[in-house]
Amino acid sequence: MPDSPDFITQSIFNENIVQIIYFIATLLFIFGLKKMSSPPAAQKGLVWAGIGMLLAVLITFFQYQIQSNYLWMTAALFIGGTLAYISAKKALMTEIPQMIALYNGLGGGAAATIAASELIKLETLSLATPDTVKYLAIAGALVGSISFSGSLIAFAKLKGLIKSPFRLPMHQWANALVLVVAITFGIAIALNGNQFEVTSLVLFFILSLTFGVLMTISMGDADMPVAISLFNAFTGLAVGFEGYVLANPAMMIAGLLVAAVGFKLTSSMSKAMNRPISNVLFGSVSEIDTSNASSAIANGRMKELQSNDAAAMMAFAQNIIIVPGYGMAVAQAQHKVSEMVKLLEDNGAKVKFAIHPVAGRMPGHMNVLLAETGISYDSIYDLDEINEEFKRADIVLVLGANDTTNPAARSDQTSPIFGMPIFNADKAKNIIVIKRGKGAGFSGIENPLFYLENTGILFGDAQSVLSNVLKDLKQIY
Ligand code: NDP
Repeated sequence: MPDSPDFITQSIFNENIVQIIYFIATLLFIFGLKKMSSPPAAQKGLVWAGIGMLLAVLITFFQYQIQSNYLWMTAALFIGGTLAYISAKKALMTEIPQMIALYNGLGGGAAATIAASELIKLETLSLATPDTVKYLAIAGALVGSISFSGSLIAFAKLKGLIKSPFRLPMHQWANALVLVVAITFGIAIALNGNQFEVTSLVLFFILSLTFGVLMTISMGDADMPVAISLFNAFTGLAVGFEGYVLANPAMMIAGLLVAAVGFKLTSSMSKAMNRPISNVLFGSVSEIDTSNASSAIANGRMKELQSNDAAAMMAFAQNIIIVPGYGMAVAQAQHKVSEMVKLLEDNGAKVKFAIHPVAGRMPGHMNVLLAETGISYDSIYDLDEINEEFKRADIVLVLGANDTTNPAARSDQTSPIFGMPIFNADKAKNIIVIKRGKGAGFSGIENPLFYLENTGILFGDAQSVLSNVLKDLKQIY
């Protein structure tokens, strides 16, 4: 009885069955993605999409064309899977954005590698290939390479390994020039069909990778949310293009789904930050200039508040708005805040959460944390929905948030976050801020909100500060 892969492919998993299983995997991706649009169902959505991916990976072993590569595929799956499992297990919730940047970049790199191998095959075997395939292979290689090198720089920035933006002289022109030359090489390779020089291919990849580095390294830190979602979309696009090149519909559909979702997210993030994509792409962001610090900072001081005073203020307040930020995630203070909200609401206060689209370190970061505690979705509001309500709030509790409440974004043209829509927290009657010390926000700038007359600071780790406030509130009620 034959025991070769031919036997498996031809008699058990013939091409039709392979395609049907790819189709089922694709449906699972779409179904999973649909579920991810609502926080309570998102976890199930991930499981469905994960099952789809597992099916797609397993059935790929039975594709007729790759029967000689079993050893390489198994080794790659084992090494990649083990590293991903260990790193994901070890990662803290606050490290997820850098993990996403890294994994996403590797996806782009994988798509670019597929393009490289297909193009080399084309050249060495002198294959007759339709023009669409050549152009899409090049397009996938370009965006995949940009996503790979750009995501690695984004990873280093988020991890704090690269502190400030680096820009070449006339960097916008220099970046654009590198991109134009890379595209020119790409078009020349596609035009020359199966007779291009491998050196041109190597130069094309070097230029594409260089553009990814230059583009990301010249970005301001505050642009990282837009950059991550843009690279996510690029990786999806690259995978989709290479799916077409390999004539693999599941890969094509999965890639294009990721691209569509990634571009939608990029557009929401850039709208949230009021940053045109072109500015992000070519790094047109102002330098951090703190010389123009507002008079509130120059003349003021942060006024410390004690937890019993904060508890008394909250106990007598009717309308409270809580603005959570990255500090809540670091301190894992979401459960304490949920307990406190319950107590306040049981005693007649109306409490709302204001979630900024770029709060924390990944899209939806705050929503995920609050969902974990069972806080009702009805009490969670977006920037547009709640910004007019701040002026009527008795208290705004700024819980480990900073950049998303910085009034300098409205008025200080030298600020790297100038133009970013922010919460009108400074318009509230009283502002209570929880932070550990004088640390700045992600963009590295001072926040005049913390120095206002009606702002009091509860210094300390958010979780322990909230425990004390809770204790004091219980004594008051
Ligand atoms: P910020 O990063 O601006 O500020 C965090 C604040 O939390 C700081 O004031 C810090 O002050 C305080 N803090 C830190 N640790 C603790 C702790 N353990 N307990 C209490 N307070 C703490 O947060 P925001 O959420 O307001 O803004 C998000 C920023 O991150 C934006 O600039 C955004 O562009 C950027 N970003 C967002 C991404 C996204 O997708 N959402 C991705 C990448 C970047 P102190 O040190 O004094 O405690």
